Amino acid sequence: MASGAKSGRRSVTAKACLAAGALWASATNAQGTAAPHLFPEKWIDGTQAQEPVTQVQALDGDTFVIRQSVKTNFEAPFLYLLFGRDKALLLDTGAEGGVIRPTIDRLVTEWLAAHRRADIPLIVAHSHAHGDHIAGDAAFRERPGTTVVGLKPADVAGFFGIGKWPEEVGRFDLGGRTLSIIPTPGHQAAAIMIYDSRLKILLSGDTLYPGRLYVPVNFMADDRASIDRLAAFATRHPIRAALGAHIEMTRTPGRDYEREAPMHPDEHPLELPAASIAELQAGLKAPLDVPGQPQVHDHFIIYPVPPRPE
Ligand SMILES: [Zn+2]
Repeated sequence: MASGAKSGRRSVTAKACLAAGALWASATNAQGTAAPHLFPEKWIDGTQAQEPVTQVQALDGDTFVIRQSVKTNFEAPFLYLLFGRDKALLLDTGAEGGVIRPTIDRLVTEWLAAHRRADIPLIVAHSHAHGDHIAGDAAFRERPGTTVVGLKPADVAGFFGIGKWPEEVGRFDLGGRTLSIIPTPGHQAAAIMIYDSRLKILLSGDTLYPGRLYVPVNFMADDRASIDRLAAFATRHPIRAALGAHIEMTRTPGRDYEREAPMHPDEHPLELPAASIAELQAGLKAPLDVPGQPQVHDHFIIYPVPPRPE
């Protein structure tokens, strides 16, 4: 998240939610309306006296989801490590206070041993440039065989060979595993989502996750355009689940945790169904031009915040 928003609690824009609800209903005939269950374990949520600084759950032998403990930083972000035959990609390096690199080094070492390999280049990219997703970058800049992608939209576009940012979807081949790189400026100017056609998962960053989707009002139009392009992408690509970068919702529909909550009892699952994209797109049709007046949905909250420089 990292919104900087501390202003008032919600006032539900009932009209917008009704409109969203109508489109949501029409979307129920499309793909992916039920939230899929992808993870065998419960995520660490700060409710125990002790928990590890990171928790790793595998989606398959080449795909790892890492959570940073809420006890190290209230943001408790999720990071993603994907292996192909030729390269590995880490999406995000965590928030301040995290201890991420030892976990990634261990996962790479174990993967190399399982594949009888000596090394694999590591690319470190970011869902977007906010501090709670890049704080571990320095530890990776000094790591051998590692490339850390820059933080500006031009850096991201240049690295992934996206000629026409943000309209064009980039392709990035890890070796037998091609990722789609989808520019989604709005929450932040350099935001991307990554679609993995092998597992049919969408790594959706802070643009779509079970929590407060902060959008500076001066970038609301950018966010709408991004979600329109994403919705078009989703009609052409099967999506089992959107996996974002935080959880800020409880399992009670429409109810989030307080900001900077030190623990997340009864936490919403990380997985959102593909139909969330259409619901978000519909919700964004509302004006949403007043900072601090959020639009509450069952599984996420669209949260306009004051203008920002980027
Ligand atoms: Zn964040």
